[in-house]
Amino acid sequence: MEFNWSEVALGTAKELKEKIIPLFGTKKAGENVGTNVSGDVTKYVDKVAEDIILKRLVPLGVNVVSEEVGAIDNGSDYTVVVDPLDGSYNFSVGIPIFAFSMGVFKGKKPVYGAIYEFLTKNFYEAKPGEGAYLNGGRIRVNEPEPGKEALSFYTRGRCLGLVRKVKRVRVLGAIAVELAYVARGSLDGVFDIRNYVRPTDVAAGVLLVREAGGIVTDERGREFEVKLSATEKTNVIAVANERLLKTILEVIESGP
Ligand code: MN
Ligand code: MN
Repeated sequence: MEFNWSEVALGTAKELKEKIIPLFGTKKAGENVGTNVSGDVTKYVDKVAEDIILKRLVPLGVNVVSEEVGAIDNGSDYTVVVDPLDGSYNFSVGIPIFAFSMGVFKGKKPVYGAIYEFLTKNFYEAKPGEGAYLNGGRIRVNEPEPGKEALSFYTRGRCLGLVRKVKRVRVLGAIAVELAYVARGSLDGVFDIRNYVRPTDVAAGVLLVREAGGIVTDERGREFEVKLSATEKTNVIAVANERLLKTILEVIESGP
C-alpha cells in the first residue's frame, strides 16, 4: 500500500495543534503522568499528543515508533518514527520553541521526513534525492564565513571552547526544531554528545538537513544512521559544512 505521507504528516500535525495549543504554558501541561519506554517522565501534554498519534497512525497498518509508547510492530514495510511533541519542557513552561517530528522508513531506508512548528505553522518536509522544503519552498543550509557561525550544542559542560570559535550560540531546547533551523540556514549547526538523543527526536531532521545540503554524523564524524527504536540513545552532529564539522570534531577530540 502507498501513502501520501505529506497528507498524513500535516493532518496529524494540525490535529495535534488543535488539541495541545490550549495547554501551552499551563501547569496542567507539565504534570507528571508516568514514565515512558526510555524511563523519562511523561508530561500530561505528551500523553495527549501521543494518543492522537496512535489514533492517526495505527489504523494505517504501519509500524509505529513513538517517544512515549515505544515500538508497535504491525508487520508493515513502513515504519513511522514520531516525536509527537519535541521540546515538551519548553511547551509546558511557555517557551514557544517545540515541534512535531515524523520520519518514515521503508525497511531501514528513509523515504520521508516532516517537522511542524505549531505556533509559526512552519511545515518542513524532505524526501531522499528531492531536496528539503519549508511550506513548499526549497530550503538550503547557510554558507557561513569561518568564525561567523551560529551554533547550538548540548555537551554537559564539554567543548565550551567552541563559544570562542563561533559568532553566536543559540541553545533552543528542541533538537527537531534546531535541525529544521540548520536545514533552512537559521542555525549553522547543532550537536548533542550527551548520549541523550533518541531516534524519535531526529528521524525527520536528519533527512531534512541532508536534503538541504548539510552533513549529519555521530560524535566521531561517521555517517549518522537512524535506528528504528524508541529507546536507543545516541549522539548527533548536524552542520552546514565540512569546515564546521572539522572544528567541532577537533574540539570534541581535544576535550574533556
Ligand atoms: Mn523529543
Ligand atoms: Mn516528545
